[in-house]
Amino acid sequence: MTKWVYLFSEGNAKMRDLLGGKGAGLAEMVNAGLPVPPGFTITTQACNAYYASGKQFPEGMWEQTLEALHTIEQQTGKKLGDPGNPLLVSVRSGARMSMPGMMDTVLNLGLNNSTVEGLAKLTGNERFAYDAYRRFISMFGRIVMGIDGAKFESILDSYKERTAGKQDTDLTADMLKQIVADYKALYQREIGSPFPEDPYEQLRLAIGAVFGSWMGKRAIDYRNFNKIPHDLGTAVNIVTMVFGNMGNDSGTGVAFTRDPRTGEKTLYGEYLQNAQGEDVVAGIRTPKRISDLQRDMPEVYQQFVGIAQRLEQHYRDMQDLEFTVERGKLWMLQTRSGKRTAAAAVKIAVDMVREGLITKQEAVQRVEPQQVYQLLLPRFDEEDKKRATEQGSLLAKGLNASPGAASGMAVFDPDTAEAWGREGKSVILVRSETSPDDVHGMLEARGILTQHGGATSHAAVVARGLGKPCVAGAEAIRVEAHQFSVNGTVVREGDLISIDGATGEIFRGAIRTVTPDIQKEQDLQQILAWADEFRRLQVWANADYPKDAQVARTLGAQGIGLTRTEHMFFEEERLPIVQRMILAETDAARQAALDELLPIQRGDFEGLFRVMNGLPVIIRLIDPPLHEFLPGYEELQEEIAALKYELRDAKTLAEVTEKVETILQKERLLSSVAAMREANPMLGLRGCRLGIIFPQITAMQVRAIFEAACNVTEQGIEVHPEVMIPLVGHVNELRRQRDQLEPVAKQVMAERHMQIDYKFGTMIEVPRAALTADEIAQYAEFFSFGTNDLTQMTFGISRDDAEGKFLLKYVEEKILPDNPFQVLDRKGVGKLMRLAVEAGRQQRPTLEVGICGEHGGDPSSIEFCNEIGLKYVSCSPYRVPVARLAAAQAALGETQRDK
Ligand code: ADP
Ligand code: MG
Ligand code: MG
Repeated sequence: MTKWVYLFSEGNAKMRDLLGGKGAGLAEMVNAGLPVPPGFTITTQACNAYYASGKQFPEGMWEQTLEALHTIEQQTGKKLGDPGNPLLVSVRSGARMSMPGMMDTVLNLGLNNSTVEGLAKLTGNERFAYDAYRRFISMFGRIVMGIDGAKFESILDSYKERTAGKQDTDLTADMLKQIVADYKALYQREIGSPFPEDPYEQLRLAIGAVFGSWMGKRAIDYRNFNKIPHDLGTAVNIVTMVFGNMGNDSGTGVAFTRDPRTGEKTLYGEYLQNAQGEDVVAGIRTPKRISDLQRDMPEVYQQFVGIAQRLEQHYRDMQDLEFTVERGKLWMLQTRSGKRTAAAAVKIAVDMVREGLITKQEAVQRVEPQQVYQLLLPRFDEEDKKRATEQGSLLAKGLNASPGAASGMAVFDPDTAEAWGREGKSVILVRSETSPDDVHGMLEARGILTQHGGATSHAAVVARGLGKPCVAGAEAIRVEAHQFSVNGTVVREGDLISIDGATGEIFRGAIRTVTPDIQKEQDLQQILAWADEFRRLQVWANADYPKDAQVARTLGAQGIGLTRTEHMFFEEERLPIVQRMILAETDAARQAALDELLPIQRGDFEGLFRVMNGLPVIIRLIDPPLHEFLPGYEELQEEIAALKYELRDAKTLAEVTEKVETILQKERLLSSVAAMREANPMLGLRGCRLGIIFPQITAMQVRAIFEAACNVTEQGIEVHPEVMIPLVGHVNELRRQRDQLEPVAKQVMAERHMQIDYKFGTMIEVPRAALTADEIAQYAEFFSFGTNDLTQMTFGISRDDAEGKFLLKYVEEKILPDNPFQVLDRKGVGKLMRLAVEAGRQQRPTLEVGICGEHGGDPSSIEFCNEIGLKYVSCSPYRVPVARLAAAQAALGETQRDK
């Protein structure tokens, strides 16, 4: 017979899978001899069996429940349903990980018309008994039976109105009795049957409701979003009630063993005198600070502090505790590892190593890479935010859906957001909710604010993907066509607002943002320094400009994995030269333009080499199709049409001649652009194909690289340039380019009588290159996976056309587990990578292999890169610290698996 039910004394912390987090925590506290009210846990396995059998309690479960109940009846001397000495219990859900969307706790189960009288007599407190009863009926009605809670609230409010103090503590016993009667009438109306008086029936329904909530929509959405499997199931905890609402020597509270906002080592929390657990959470009364407990009940406080310390030592992590004091006696109701902000996670991890509580390895694993990223995002200047709050600018609070902070003009439709954003204005897109049709506006907005939707809503998911702050589900605001209103304040289009995606706060007006300085974040530096001890992967950065390279180096980059040289061509004063080079009709004219570009490119490279003194720098030769440097075809056509129209109004001959000249010039340009137009530019004349067709361009670039290298070497800088040839699909492409370009490098070195340490290599971004990596490696000293193109070409999906359109739907509907442009697709793209690494190294054992796609900064993708033995990951400068931590976690995860 399967054991479905465990008394707390039969479980322990290791049984989280079976007992859920709450159940395992309660069991562990019982084992440690802490004061926990007697109780038991129905297993997660029972929940799964419940679903497997079409929502039936599995065989034996109910009997075992009754048996366990009997045991706690013996322990407490009370009996369920016995008016003489009634046992009351709470019914609490508890999955392996704490999960929003699961059923709320039902307190005081076991009360009915006769036990309530017993409770009154026993405690000599009729008011208390009926207060507990009315709470139970409303919780049961709302949570178990799904009645709208507002209906109970409005009954309660109507009675509170009649009291002098208007607080729930002001209700008299008689009023509470009437409330109970009104509640029951409401229950009968809503459900169509009377409120269940039988405590066993109450219990059966409550257990069923906990199981039911596992497959509730909110719970399913949450698991989908967090990639939690659906077959874990939830446990049900049945706990003897203890009462914090028995007078001023009673109370209830929650506390963290350290401050979850800052990580500071002080007991942090709040409590309410004469109240039941849910009052603290519901915010009915303003709780006191936990330190006030020291004054109100010094002995209880001392005992609680001792228990808190013990639990933290025992779990070796910051704990989130719940307790209740019943007539001066302390009871523990929950312990679990506490949620914390990014700053607190880092500080606690570092402090605990110093306190000897955890190892450096554990500390490195306690901080999520994403939290490191958050810590480095712009945030509001604390002082300025305080000022704004004090001046009453805080409008409302929504859900902190995506971190970061932004100020900007409120805009209410995506088209305006796009238009204003492109004009360089800072805008915050405010919508009642967002859909894929809004993405173009979201792209240009600094931040996103929605009235509806949770942490997994479209707005939240897209904002996180874009790395923009988002406050979602701000139900307090009312969004209309071109304004939103909140508590009488109206914010119109163009008005300045500020949103804090880390806290969910919404302000009127602008607040100064600050970008954190990593040098000053000492705890973060410490965690990263430890991470560096454990990781095997190097972390390089993608940087096109010396200033980006400088940021990357400050953040710990060990090389530049990708410099895109075409960015250098786009700059305003250079573009005309680039265009002349492209449009040149003779080789000589082309060479003349290139000669002008040479010193400019050389200057760019010198800057990079200087910053990266001593470290490798990979420079990718020109990649995009040339027409990207020319005006658009349609745009030109329109210009010519307009010029022709103006020609009719030309007054003087000089004017006519001038206009005709311009038109002819534009028409020549148009025919060149037309000749270069491609149906599929992504698959057209780009990458190494350009270098093969126009060898002078890449030759110029290589000359610039080596001249720059020689120049800075003379100044005492150590350079390691690596020349990367993009988009190779066939070995002959690489061979041809290398044969053309290496002589240029050698010639420069000969001219300067210098020897530079260099490499030639290629990007692996065309599937065919991965498949023929052994051949390619004959001519490449390094490979760098360009996983953006490799993903596009492996899936046959153009990223620009897919993201924000069908790709989001694919992910939402689980056609794809993730956006493959954010999280590397291990099965497909990853398989090609693995193959290429193996074949390439077989051909050339010293082959240097890394990755330079955006995936280089994504923790899951980094884990994979570690697994297939890459030398480095290269990511954007701001993600370097994220990658350092993720690389360490990948390496530590591996050693743990080996054990
Ligand atoms: P959550 O996961 O939402 O915190 P809990 O199951 O921990 O839900 O309980 C909600 C509130 O009810 C908490 O304040 C808790 O301390 C209180 N509570 C739960 N069980 C009991 C009990 N047996 N006696 C008194 N209070 C309880
Ligand atoms: Mg809960
Ligand atoms: Mg709790």
